[in-house]
Amino acid sequence: MRRHRRAKIVATVGPASSSPEMLEALLLAGVDTFRLNFSHGTQSDHARIHAAIRKLEQDVGRPIGILMDLQGPKIRVGTLRDGKIAAVAGETIRFVLSGSEGDRTAIPLPHREIFAAVAPGHDLLIDDGRVRVRVAGLGDDFIEAKVIVGGTISNHKGVNLPGTVLDLSPLTAKDRLDLEFGLKLGVDWVALSFVQKPSDIIEARGLIGDRAGLMAKIEKPAALERIDDIIQLCDAIMVARGDLGVEIPHEDVPGRQKELVRACRLAVKPVIVATQMLDSMVAAPTPTRAEVSDVATAIYDGADAVMLSAESATGRYPREAVEMMDRIIRSTEQHKMYRSIVEATQPGEEQTPPHAVATAAADLASVVHAAAIVAYTSSGTTAARVARKRPSRPILAITPSREVSRRLCLLWGAHSVLSDDVQSYEEMVERATTFAHAEQFASSRDLLVVVAGIPFGQAGTTNNLRVVSLP
Ligand code: PGA
Ligand code: MN
Repeated sequence: MRRHRRAKIVATVGPASSSPEMLEALLLAGVDTFRLNFSHGTQSDHARIHAAIRKLEQDVGRPIGILMDLQGPKIRVGTLRDGKIAAVAGETIRFVLSGSEGDRTAIPLPHREIFAAVAPGHDLLIDDGRVRVRVAGLGDDFIEAKVIVGGTISNHKGVNLPGTVLDLSPLTAKDRLDLEFGLKLGVDWVALSFVQKPSDIIEARGLIGDRAGLMAKIEKPAALERIDDIIQLCDAIMVARGDLGVEIPHEDVPGRQKELVRACRLAVKPVIVATQMLDSMVAAPTPTRAEVSDVATAIYDGADAVMLSAESATGRYPREAVEMMDRIIRSTEQHKMYRSIVEATQPGEEQTPPHAVATAAADLASVVHAAAIVAYTSSGTTAARVARKRPSRPILAITPSREVSRRLCLLWGAHSVLSDDVQSYEEMVERATTFAHAEQFASSRDLLVVVAGIPFGQAGTTNNLRVVSLP
C-alpha cells in the first residue's frame, strides 16, 4: 500500500461509492482520505460509511483519513407557488422573508440575516450563479431586485451573496448536531463551509478542540480578504472552487488557487484543491483534456491534495475517476519540469530553528541520496515542515498517535505509520530503520535522514537531525 506519488487524493463518498466493496476498490485505486459530505445523506448513512472505512483500515493495516464536511449556512429560495419562476432580464422581482404567495412579487427567502445585511447595489446569485439580480430597494422583510441575467428560479435553489458579509454563524443548528455526531464517530478532519471571517474559525475551534483537524473551506470573497488570519487559525484549507467560482468571477479562480496554495505552504498547513476536477467523468469513463490539465495544474501548484466530488459520490465511474487522478498525479510528478516548477514557488524561509532544521533535513537527504527522510513526529508538525520543502526524497512519518497518522493522509508526500512511544533517542533511530525496511523504503547500505524534535512528545520542536547508514 505504498503510493508512488506525493500529492494525495480525497474522494467524496456518496450513493455511488458507499458499499464496502466500492470503498475498498477506491482505496486500492488510490484514495488517501475519504470525505463524508453532510449536505447529503443521513447521520446513519455516514455512520455506516465511517465504520466500513475503519474496517478497511484495519484490513489493510494502513491509516486512512476521514474528512467530515459540514453543510454550513447555505442559503436557499423557499417554495414557489408554481415550483418555478422565469426571471426576465430588466424586470423587477421581489423577495420576501415570509409569505405564502410564492410568485414573482413574493419569492420566499427565509433567512432574516440577508434582509439585515444587504444594501442596494448588492447582487444575489441564484442556482450556481445562473441567475443574477441586483438589489434596488429593501425593507425589513422584503427586497426589490432588478434582474441582470435572466433565467429560471425554482424551488430551493441555492443563493449566493458575494458582496455581502452576513451576520451568520458558520455553524447552523444542523451543523452543530452533525459535528457532535461526527466527532463521536471519530472523524479526522472537520471542514467548515462558507467561512467568512477569522472568528468563524475560533467559534468552531471552541466546539471541536483538538478532537479533529479544522479545515476552512474558502468559497467567499470575505474569507479571501482575511485569508492570512484564517490560515493561521485553522489546520488546513480547501480551495472550494464550486462556490468560490460563483462568488468571484470565473477568471479570478485560478490565480486565487495559486495564492491559496502558496500561502498554505508558507504557513505549513495542508491545502486541498477541490471541485469539478474530472467533472465529465460523472457520466463518461474518460475525462476531457482540459480536466486532466486542471488536475496537473494543481499538482504543479504544489497542492497537498486534489479532490473528487460528484465524480466519486454519484457518478457512474468512481473507480475510473480515482485511477485517472492517480495517473495524472504520477505522470505530472515525474515530468522533467515538475521539480523546477515546484521549487520555483518555494516560500521564503522562515528563520526559526525548527524550520531551518526541517529544511536542512530535506536538503541533506537530497545531497546524500537518502532512501528516505524519516520524520519522527508526535503532532505531525515535523513531517509538515519537511513536506513544505516538497523534497525529492520520500518522507516516512512515524508517529505514536493514531489520530496524527490519519491526519497525515492529507499531507503532501507523507507516508505515515503508527508506532509505540519510544523512550530514548537510540530507540527512535532503531524504530526509524525498522520501519524504513518494513515499509520498503530502504534496504541494506541505504542512508536515512532522521529528523525529530527532542524531547519527544513536545509539539513544535524540530531540532534534531541524524544521518543513519543501514547495515
Ligand atoms: P461543496 O464545497 O461541494 O460542499 O459545495 C466545495 C465547493 O464549493 O467547491
Ligand atoms: Mn461549497
